[in-house]
Amino acid sequence: MLGDGILKGMAETARNFFGSFVSDERLTTVEYPEQRIPTVEAARVFPFLVYDGANWEAGMRCVACQICEKECPPKCIYIEKSADKKPDFVGKQQFYPTRFDIDVSVCMSCQICVEVCPFEAIKMDTQFELATEDRFGGLLYDRKELSRSNEYYHSIHPTEAGEVDARLAEEKAKVEARAKAAAEAAAAKAAAAANPTQLAGGGS
Ligand code: SF4
Ligand code: SF4
Repeated sequence: MLGDGILKGMAETARNFFGSFVSDERLTTVEYPEQRIPTVEAARVFPFLVYDGANWEAGMRCVACQICEKECPPKCIYIEKSADKKPDFVGKQQFYPTRFDIDVSVCMSCQICVEVCPFEAIKMDTQFELATEDRFGGLLYDRKELSRSNEYYHSIHPTEAGEVDARLAEEKAKVEARAKAAAEAAAAKAAAAANPTQLAGGGS
């Protein structure tokens, strides 16, 4: 029937309008900022840099590979790579950013930087109350302002952070197993070189 959809829509609107006076479930607005809706796990606002341990500088996962800087569509990430290196989570020496800025007045929250990062170093924050009178300097965050602990990451995205931890632990275990096998092979080779007669006797 012509206008059927409009009548159904009006009926739904009326049901929610009158229902909101008697049912909390139909009360779709809250009195912000006194009242707040709990943030959902999939929420994303602007990126932050993850660090492990207690020291943001020592534990920063970012290795300044600059992939995110190249892939960011509005080009709002600025990175400068260190001249020296520091150990990463598996003990491998890596560069680190001496400068890592994000201009969140330009960032469009697309999450591409997160998706392209091979080191699980950049994730999306859920913090949205960032208003400032200083539109330019006040929204240009440096590496210290961008740094958040892995515990914080767990507190806002527990499922995702748990998966990342498991992946990194698996990678670390593989690296340690390879290092152990290499050390054992080197020790066996050294022992054989030190005692060639034993090796010849063992093979006969
Ligand atoms: S979320 Fe998108 S726009 Fe923002 S810094 Fe990352 S890649 Fe750039
Ligand atoms: S955040 Fe990730 S992609 Fe960006 S520079 Fe650091 S390690 Fe590379």
